[in-house]
Amino acid sequence: MKRSDKPFHRPTDADDLELHPLVRQQLALEEAWRCLQCADPPCQKGCPASVPVKLFIRQLRNKDFRGAAVTIRLANPFGGSCGRVCAQAEQCQHDCTRASIDRPIDIAMLQRFACDHELSAGAVLPHVLPATGKRVAVIGAGPAGLSAAAELARLGHAVEVFEKASRPGGLLDGGIPPQRLPRQVVEHEVEAVRSAGVVIHTGRKIGSVAELRPRFDGVVVAVGLCRPRRLGIKGEDADGVYQALEFLDASARGEPPELGGRVLV
Ligand code: SF4
Repeated sequence: MKRSDKPFHRPTDADDLELHPLVRQQLALEEAWRCLQCADPPCQKGCPASVPVKLFIRQLRNKDFRGAAVTIRLANPFGGSCGRVCAQAEQCQHDCTRASIDRPIDIAMLQRFACDHELSAGAVLPHVLPATGKRVAVIGAGPAGLSAAAELARLGHAVEVFEKASRPGGLLDGGIPPQRLPRQVVEHEVEAVRSAGVVIHTGRKIGSVAELRPRFDGVVVAVGLCRPRRLGIKGEDADGVYQALEFLDASARGEPPELGGRVLV
């Protein structure tokens, strides 16, 4: 069996927000100390957000939990959310060197622990540079738009985000069930973006970039992929047929469509 073919085992339940903080901390520290601190860590090459995995794990080992969270958020403002919904078994954890000894490091759990550690203290995006006097508009308050906004704000620009929905978060807010991604985690990470000085306007549909151009030096368009890819088959518009995003969004709002006793997915 190739190393990468080994089944992935989740070693702990430390992602449970209900777990006592000290128990969760102990589980995270034990996992962090399993890390080999590789000289050329393959875990970092597997992270699409380029999170410095080795560094934040070392900070956790030193009980610098705040520092670990800052390290993650500098690369990815939605580290706590991604620690729950990324396909880590296929990404950072896939080629973890520790797998050749027993099992890969549960990087996702450690990332969740570091980011959630701020839940009570309040997240602050670090290192805001001096104001540049430039104004930037971002269309779309999903993860891409808010990540762009956070990065622009940290570079010293004045940033405003325009979101047509009534709440920010995009797919993180309405496309992922709360049992997989607790809303308090998303809200906390959106607040961290706000803490960098980003102004978020909700319920504001922008008709064209030209509408914003006179007031802003730059515009970022991050409107996401909110239209489902349709199959183009007969009956897909019939009553009782729902697109996945439409169903998940309604469920997230507490208004799931009425389903019969038998469901085909
Ligand atoms: S590859 Fe695994 S063991 Fe090596 S630094 Fe990354 S997490 Fe630690």
